[in-house]
Amino acid sequence: MLNIVLFGPPGAGKGTQAAMLLEKYQLVHLSTGDILRAELKAETALGKEAKKFMEKGELVPDSVVIGMIEAKIDSISGAKGYIFDGFPRTNAQAAALDAMLSKKRSPISVMLALTVDDDELIKRLLLRGNDSGRADDKDQSIIENRIKVYNKETSPVIDFYKKQNKFKAINGVGTIDNIFKGLCNAIDDLKK
Ligand code: AMP
Repeated sequence: MLNIVLFGPPGAGKGTQAAMLLEKYQLVHLSTGDILRAELKAETALGKEAKKFMEKGELVPDSVVIGMIEAKIDSISGAKGYIFDGFPRTNAQAAALDAMLSKKRSPISVMLALTVDDDELIKRLLLRGNDSGRADDKDQSIIENRIKVYNKETSPVIDFYKKQNKFKAINGVGTIDNIFKGLCNAIDDLKK
């Protein structure tokens, strides 16, 4: 199986690139942000709990997100592999994911980390806020908080995968096609 952690700060282009990678490599997309937004829209208990954190740009508690992703993985059979997008966001989530995947004997193959500087991220997110319909993309102070939370709580996950020799940085600035090529080259290198 090809299991990819597509990593990077908010606005790095994970969703756009994930959609292209899914098609090329026939993988299942697991985006915790998308799952949480669906729960929020359906006004489930989980969605109502998550909303309090999401509208401030804070992380939803590990226990909630880990339980949610585990249920999702358990509900899917016959996948050729997964793209994890927006997950794991803490070392506790990364360790829980390793434990889940070891039960299935299909570990993470690689972490592909899109690198984009903070000024470019803020510009992209404000632009996305015009038509994404996402409240957390419209307000500059929420955007800045999401980037702060990424730097403080999420970026340590890089070391988690570096220790396993699974980390690859990919330039996240440039045309969508060039960034995609960078990701595909890194994936195809795994097979060599
Ligand atoms: P995203 O669509 O990945 O930018 O996620 C939007 C929001 O959902 C984040 O700002 C968090 O509040 C929440 N969220 C998404 N994924 C996670 C995660 N793995 N851990 C905690 N919170 C998350």
